[in-house]
Amino acid sequence: MYKTRPCLNLEIEDPVASFRAAINENSKNISYTNNSGLTYRTMALNAKCWHPSRHLTISFMDNPPASLKEAIKSHIWEWADYVSLTFSFIDSKDGVIRITTDTTQNASQIGTDALTVAAGKPTMFIYARPGDADFRTVVIHEFGHALGFHHEHLHPDANIPWNRPKVYQEYAEKWGMDKQSVDLNIFTPIDEAITVTPYDPTSIMHYPVEKELTDGKFEIPMNTEISWQDKRICAHFYPIEIPDGGSCESP
Ligand SMILES: [Zn+2]
Repeated sequence: MYKTRPCLNLEIEDPVASFRAAINENSKNISYTNNSGLTYRTMALNAKCWHPSRHLTISFMDNPPASLKEAIKSHIWEWADYVSLTFSFIDSKDGVIRITTDTTQNASQIGTDALTVAAGKPTMFIYARPGDADFRTVVIHEFGHALGFHHEHLHPDANIPWNRPKVYQEYAEKWGMDKQSVDLNIFTPIDEAITVTPYDPTSIMHYPVEKELTDGKFEIPMNTEISWQDKRICAHFYPIEIPDGGSCESP
């Protein structure tokens, strides 16, 4: 269970704009979405990946203390070794990724959906603070969304033996989530998504799952590291060029 708030999907206001943004950014998003002979059923990017050579500028929309800013930056940088994308933090508020810490939620737009958010509005929300046990995990997780990752517990092959009545009760009591929100964020697999890797219970993008909320046997701890498969997904969509002209794209 999250000690800070669980990360919830943000509503997409305009699905057409979302689709256009994805295709304009990276035409490969079409083939990732429409299964064209390859068995791409991606969870990673549901066709919302950035162009692999994209430079993502990142702004803070509020004025968090320097210590909070630096802590967030350092955890975002943990992704940098695994992707061809490059990042930089800018002082102005017009970054492609726009973070606010003046919020009561941990959430982020997924990949190119950030492009559909009006200028001046945040695309990522960080409620966790460095003193929280989950802080580092939350920041890495949210930036995973910004790279295009979906929640791994919604992988079509996850088959988590949830005790649904208990989940509804627990998430309502602890987080004030109604049934619809629980259904959307915990029980509804991403069916249109294309996955390039099998279900990964060790993914940083997986919710922690308490034994008490399942059949009593299944549980997933709070994953705190970018998993091996998370890195494979990065290598698939954002292959890093190596000096001999090849790439480390996964098979
Ligand atoms: Zn999330």
